[in-house]
Amino acid sequence: MQILHPFAGSVQQYTEQLANPDCNRSAPCPQCHTKHPLTAHGFYTRTLIDAAFDGIIRVRRYLCQACQRTVSLLPEFVLPYLRSGLMVITLFLIARLLRGQTLHSAARTAAPSMPYQRGQFWIRRFRAQAETLCAALAALTIPAPAPDFVHRALAMLESTGWIAAHRFLFAGVRCHLLGWPRGLAPDGRRTAFSTATAPA
Ligand SMILES: [Zn+2]
Repeated sequence: MQILHPFAGSVQQYTEQLANPDCNRSAPCPQCHTKHPLTAHGFYTRTLIDAAFDGIIRVRRYLCQACQRTVSLLPEFVLPYLRSGLMVITLFLIARLLRGQTLHSAARTAAPSMPYQRGQFWIRRFRAQAETLCAALAALTIPAPAPDFVHRALAMLESTGWIAAHRFLFAGVRCHLLGWPRGLAPDGRRTAFSTATAPA
């Protein structure tokens, strides 16, 4: 299972803070809620494309001795299962959907070497997720008058702040800003029959 590392700062600062396993250790276990502290359980690596970073980051993992499942602490500047950082995705969606820039121009705004097709993929997912976002974000901000769910969701994300909204959606209601991949819906966890053999 992935949970959020409540961290605001640069990729560099995140990397430095990772050395300390006690930093942001989750207690109790978010899966079985035992009171026993979680044990540091190494890292996994993932790629990250961000405004000023393109490479590999480590994500800390903990093991719960009670339920034998792992918990990984994902920094809040990334979205689960997406290589690009939240800032790059945000810049693209605003440029294309709010400002009406062309796909090529929006891609250049988001990240200089980004293929625009990647942005098209985000737009498809954002459109499919917009109505869900409007409903969930109504807990944080007043729904803005807008011609459709896409524009209303964008306005609500802008007024809440994208990172703050992502934190609430993911940590609070297990909702993915761009929708969970198939198989992990509705809350980002593998379905019950596979949980025992494949801890997330
Ligand atoms: Zn547990």
